[in-house]
Amino acid sequence: MSSRRIYLSPPHMSGKEQQYIEEAFLSNWIAPLGPHVDGFEKELASYLGTTGALALNSGTAAMHLALLLAGVGKSDRVFCSALTFAASVNPVLYVEAEPVFIDAEPGSWNICPQALERALLKAKEEGNLPKALIVVNLYGQSADMEQVLGLCEKYRVSVIEDAAESLGATYRDKKSGSFGKFGILSFNGNKIITTSGGGALVSSDPEALERARYLATQARQKTRHYEHTEVGYNYRLSNILAAIGRAQLEVIEDRVEKRRKVYQRYQEALGDLEGLSFMPEKEYGRSSRWLSALTVDEKRCKVSRDQLIEALERDNIEARPVWKPMQLQPLYKGFEYYSFGEDISVSEELFEQGLCLPSGSNLSKEEQDRVINILKDKLVQGK
Ligand SMILES: *Cc1c(COP(=O)(O)O)cnc(C)c1O
Repeated sequence: MSSRRIYLSPPHMSGKEQQYIEEAFLSNWIAPLGPHVDGFEKELASYLGTTGALALNSGTAAMHLALLLAGVGKSDRVFCSALTFAASVNPVLYVEAEPVFIDAEPGSWNICPQALERALLKAKEEGNLPKALIVVNLYGQSADMEQVLGLCEKYRVSVIEDAAESLGATYRDKKSGSFGKFGILSFNGNKIITTSGGGALVSSDPEALERARYLATQARQKTRHYEHTEVGYNYRLSNILAAIGRAQLEVIEDRVEKRRKVYQRYQEALGDLEGLSFMPEKEYGRSSRWLSALTVDEKRCKVSRDQLIEALERDNIEARPVWKPMQLQPLYKGFEYYSFGEDISVSEELFEQGLCLPSGSNLSKEEQDRVINILKDKLVQGK
């Protein structure tokens, strides 16, 4: 294991970050908030085409605020994409609400509109419609928003779009993250752009964003002394981190192009191998290809997904299974789940077979060749 480690999705600086941080230092805007935060928020909103954006210290915090603003509280129900990272759903428990999980569809790996409709119909019959839907854009690909928004409008359910993985992606030429009543973004270190840690809440409802800003700043009333009438949070992003974010946002298009290129090279090199299927891209949009993902059919490959991960690890390369769906998580056992078909659970099949390969926008061609060669050795020669 002498070769340099290849990470799944490491940070990729543009070079401008330090200059912007330097500006913050020179003007002593070290303390929370400041001009970079304001600038970052304006630039994010303008990039996405929303009225506003609120810079926060994580995507998880953004989800928590989105739920509060959607009026979700104790014992309310929230429908959620089942195939996702736990941070999409944990805030549902923060507000003491109940998640209901909806399976993925094979064509996009995102929420299945038919399963969603079944769940909504049943909820309507039982008189317990959800307050909100959390729809995730998995690995950078938008869910089928037209269908999802149509259903949610019909049943009057607020849509929260989890675009943590899909910044830079589009759906019918509109930016991913701008579709729901609220959108949440993440700038965690492994995401498409990063502030080292951070997130944002975006919306085209200025009043809701104003209230989110107030809740995220300790819910301080506008008085000289510190007056509080409700629980607040300390969720804002610092001016230093916003400086990093501004430099990163300048290069977002390049980062998406690079990640798409990484995916394309994997597909060209490995796409014809028996038993491998790459995550499809729907005709309705452009994926950010945050992670290059594929499935490994052990019966046809004669090698399991886990054996491939282990072979890569032996050469100091990080690869991961697809997210473990929420209905299989011990934390979320016992909550309702609507699968794709009576005996077909797409999210569970994807979890068993799904593999995410190193996908960083700064992955060099040589590094990518290392990944490809190991996979070929295993799959073609069974080495
Ligand atoms: C990363 C991620 C989040 C959480 O973002 P943080 O900034 O790490 O809190 C939420 N949802 C999804 C789908 C993610 O991938």
